[in-house]
Amino acid sequence: MSTPQTSVSAALLDRARRVTPGGVNSPVRAFRAVGGTPRFIASAKGPWLTDVDGNEYVDLICSWGPMILGHSHPEVERAVREAATKGFSFGTPSENEVALAEEIVSRVDPVEQVRLVSSGTEATMSALRLARGFTGRTKVVKFAGCYHGHVDALLAQAGSGVATFALPDSAGVPESNAHDTIVLPYNDIAALEAAFAEYGDEIACVITEASPGNMGVVPPAPGFTAALRNVTRAHGALLISDEVMTGFRCSPSGWFGLEGPQGDGVPDLFTFGKVMGGGFPAAAFGGRADIMSRLAPDGPVYQAGTLSGNPVATAAGLTTLRLCTPDIYGRLDVAARAIAGATSEALDKAGVPHVVQWAGSMFSVFFREEPVANYDDAKAQDTAAFGRFFHAMLDQGVHLPPSAYEAWFVSASHDDDAVNKVIDALPAAVAAIT
Ligand code: PLP
Repeated sequence: MSTPQTSVSAALLDRARRVTPGGVNSPVRAFRAVGGTPRFIASAKGPWLTDVDGNEYVDLICSWGPMILGHSHPEVERAVREAATKGFSFGTPSENEVALAEEIVSRVDPVEQVRLVSSGTEATMSALRLARGFTGRTKVVKFAGCYHGHVDALLAQAGSGVATFALPDSAGVPESNAHDTIVLPYNDIAALEAAFAEYGDEIACVITEASPGNMGVVPPAPGFTAALRNVTRAHGALLISDEVMTGFRCSPSGWFGLEGPQGDGVPDLFTFGKVMGGGFPAAAFGGRADIMSRLAPDGPVYQAGTLSGNPVATAAGLTTLRLCTPDIYGRLDVAARAIAGATSEALDKAGVPHVVQWAGSMFSVFFREEPVANYDDAKAQDTAAFGRFFHAMLDQGVHLPPSAYEAWFVSASHDDDAVNKVIDALPAAVAAIT
């Protein structure tokens, strides 16, 4: 196994560091958790990334979820080009916004109305404000290890980059702002009930990742989502299901499509992003019409965006969602099961303790013996082993997410060639950790 040439990426990183903190525009991209030089990508097609040094990789990041059809899908590319020839941004309503909202509403049963925004962070931030405005309450319950974007009130014990860098919270979030956030262990019904027993009439909402993927993939234990629904309803609080990662990925209607109503019913609000933008900045929050109608211009909860419902982004998102037919989910599943199965088999053969956890076709490989039910469990994995495994895979042309706290993503374009390249890389990667 020879180490690929990375001098052009390294030079770009040096250049980037002079003008951008850490040389990157989102912290996990910097490879700090795994060490080494992040690859600067020059182009991508289907399941393949090509870096500026000319190295090719099978992509198991897929832009952290959005690229469900693979990179530069020809029909999405055509829709984007066509939209762009008609104008880049109007700041007025346009038809694709309506069509994208209709597509989301038709797929996710409990969602009666949506408002489009440009990032998952904006979606959760706005859903939180709406929940507070609707209930007239201030406290928010979130779960340790769940990441909802970099919203001040939701950064406490967040997963994703906050987990990767072992940050308990973030500097710059005033105590007054975090004060109303109650952080609970995930999958712990007793802790949830205790928090509501103490603060029940002050809690505006519980926000949860529908099935967490930001501490690695940690699906809700049987009964947990039902408990969330029952407890919030009993206390007049809203339940926000954050489907930014799982939405339209775990099934045609996201995690909700797999789990369905739980306990006393369905979540009040949902947030979406990633897949629904097809690789462009589009996201949304939505839910019951009586709650959504509290938003400006009809209601008193203000929310807005210069680029919200951008015509190029909505063209990409709409085309992507329309192409996400049941057949696509079958292909995702085949590729994910082949990669995860081969990885597990290779690790088993070498006697490496590990566990693979799933949410639809999203999965994580944790280097530890026992299943992971919450953030404390996730933190007890062998992250150093992951780092060595990651680099051995990278050296052989497989780009995993550069952190042990992330899901591995496949696309419907991950064909036999791509899957076999991953499988062929496994023996050397396993050897690197034994
Ligand atoms: N919510 C979840 C579950 C996410 O996974 C993410 C991003 O990874 C976000 C919200 C924030 O989305 P964005 O990065 O588009 O702001």
